[in-house]
Amino acid sequence: MEDQRKPLATKNGEGNSRLPMFGSKLRPPSTVKRPRSPEEKQDNKRRCLDYSERTVETRARKSSETSKVSGKTGSSLTRQRSETSLNRSTVSNTSLRSTNSGSSLRANNVRPKANTAVVKPTAKAASCTNTRPPPARGAQGTVRLATSKTSSSNKPPAGNGGGGGKKRPAWDLKGRLEDMEAKLEKQTNNREGLVNQMETQNQRIISLESMNQQLSGTVSIKENIVSQASEEITDLKRKLRQEEDKHDEVQRGLQREISDMTFLKETLSRQNDSLQSDLNARRVEVDGLKASVAQLTSAQAGMGAELENTKLRLEQAVTSNKTKDTEIERLRNLLENRDREIEEQNCQIRSHETERRKLHNQIQELKGNIRVFCRVRPLLGDETLGNDGMISHMNFPDQEQRIIELDKTGDATLNESCLTKKGGNNAQSKYEFGFDKVFSDHTSQQQVFEEISQLVQSALDGYNVCIFAYGQTGSGKTYTMEGTSVNDVDNRGMIPRAVLQIFDSTRELESKGWKYALDASFLEIYNETIHDLLGDEDLKHDIKMSGQKNSNEVFVTNLTIVPVTKEEMVYQLLQKASKNRSVGETKCNERSSRSHSVFTLKLTGENSITGETSQGTLNLVDLAGSERLKESGSEGQRMKETLAINKSLSNLGNVIMAIGNKDNHIPYRNSKLTYLLQNSLGGNSKTLMFVNVSPKEECFQETLNSLRFATKVNQCNIGTAQQKR
Ligand code: ADP
Ligand code: MG
Repeated sequence: MEDQRKPLATKNGEGNSRLPMFGSKLRPPSTVKRPRSPEEKQDNKRRCLDYSERTVETRARKSSETSKVSGKTGSSLTRQRSETSLNRSTVSNTSLRSTNSGSSLRANNVRPKANTAVVKPTAKAASCTNTRPPPARGAQGTVRLATSKTSSSNKPPAGNGGGGGKKRPAWDLKGRLEDMEAKLEKQTNNREGLVNQMETQNQRIISLESMNQQLSGTVSIKENIVSQASEEITDLKRKLRQEEDKHDEVQRGLQREISDMTFLKETLSRQNDSLQSDLNARRVEVDGLKASVAQLTSAQAGMGAELENTKLRLEQAVTSNKTKDTEIERLRNLLENRDREIEEQNCQIRSHETERRKLHNQIQELKGNIRVFCRVRPLLGDETLGNDGMISHMNFPDQEQRIIELDKTGDATLNESCLTKKGGNNAQSKYEFGFDKVFSDHTSQQQVFEEISQLVQSALDGYNVCIFAYGQTGSGKTYTMEGTSVNDVDNRGMIPRAVLQIFDSTRELESKGWKYALDASFLEIYNETIHDLLGDEDLKHDIKMSGQKNSNEVFVTNLTIVPVTKEEMVYQLLQKASKNRSVGETKCNERSSRSHSVFTLKLTGENSITGETSQGTLNLVDLAGSERLKESGSEGQRMKETLAINKSLSNLGNVIMAIGNKDNHIPYRNSKLTYLLQNSLGGNSKTLMFVNVSPKEECFQETLNSLRFATKVNQCNIGTAQQKR
């Protein structure tokens, strides 16, 4: 038990220093009394009590063991021990009494066991508490002390005999016997008293032992409780630390939150300020709005009335709408019928278009597949001087504009035959020529074009059309074909006008199911050599026949072919051609007058509804100047040019005449021009020749030549043109 208690004492840090060990020297109690707190006093009291109990228990155990060893019975042992203890107690108490007060000794005598055991704890307890020994408990201690005193006082003085302190003589046997009996009786009385006392003590010991056992049990329970409490304390301390940590953590978190909240508060405060100012502004605004609302409310009232009115009108409208719906339905049916009719009519139109093409062609054929138009240009600039711009030697007598008369007064060195001759020696020659159309010097480009537009239409219908401009240099060929400038709308020539008409017509024909692709090319034949007027580089060009079967299509190698999708593109092409010509020759007009330029537009059409196709070609040819150049006297380049021009122009006439005469052989190959245009001259083509004449009188002879050439061409009847399908 002591081992179990030691840790407790040690734990408190007091046990070893304050509780004396058995056998240690007893110290007298300190006379100086230190003031104690009530708790401390209570603690000390408890500790002393514990110690006393422990001591009692130890002693009991030891005695128990001893009794076991000696084999004596418990009761005898107890009795013996009690006696011994009693004796010792008497001795010790006596000795102690000499140094301590009586009350202290009485307290010590409360101890139920041997005197040593009683005295020691008291001393130790005194040492432990530094107080006086505990006070006496019970009256028995007092009785015992009294007994001890009695015993001590009843003791006969040393050397005394019986009988009143006087030693009996040896012979006084009777006296001595009486003394002895008295003594014995006293002893017997004493003994009985002692025995009684001992029994009392023994009973007390037994009750104390049982009490001790009870206390031991209580102590062990308490110890367990203490141990558990200690563990609980440790646990609680640990928990406390954890809780403290948590608390710290929470506190830090709260600190952070506080600082955050502070910041938030400041921010909110600022926001509040701004909101406040905002609010003020809003209030002002609200006031304004309130005023507006008031206005609007009054306006709303007006609107309400209007709305009512509108509702009324709406109801009327709904009623009228219903009527209209019925009407719409009726009209829809009507429209559907109309659509059907339109579709039928479109169908008819398409068939009419085919019919129109046939009739148009018949008219063209009746007009002749080769036609010649004569055009006289006006006098220009200085040419008008002295004549007021009137051409004196030319007449246009008929209303139909088909005849041109030339008058030549004076000694004309003309050998040609005259249509009429007036006068005698002073010969005046008058020549009359008839053509399909004669355009006087007052005829505008538009008037001229109106006469050729039907041929342009034929090209769209799938025929090959060839329009030539023949005449001497300066007679107005280029003017007729190209005009002065594409930007000069009134003076635009036949090429831009033809293109414009073609685009207009293709747009119209689209509604009839026709879609056209237009491809343009522009070339120049100079000295029997082909030059590409739309190309960027000077390449060699040859005229070739298409290798395809049943096709005698002619094409030029390396020739630039430009797909044209809008009119403006053609103007650009004309400008580019003009630029290319001027690059080739510094004296542009000189070069152009000695070369043929051929503008070709291929028109490929397809009708997606009827499935019809058409492929026509429109050739617009500005021929080289037809003026007769004397071969003799010309040299070098000039000679070569002259030969080439004469050859090609005369060959053109020959080809046309051969066609008219229905010759077996048509000399197309004799010149590049006729070879190139072979498909546009002859049976399956329509040919128009402008013979341009100069109004200048000095050009009379050349004019005459031109008109004669044109007449020759006009007299040819080229076979019926065939539409290409
Ligand atoms: P060619 O091409 O036959 O050599 P041009 O067409 O160059 O002749 O005509 C020569 C000049 O006469 C040009 O300045 C041209 O503008 C002008 N000219 C020709 N025909 C007419 C006409 N019908 N109206 C006005 N000017 C014309
Ligand atoms: Mg010209």
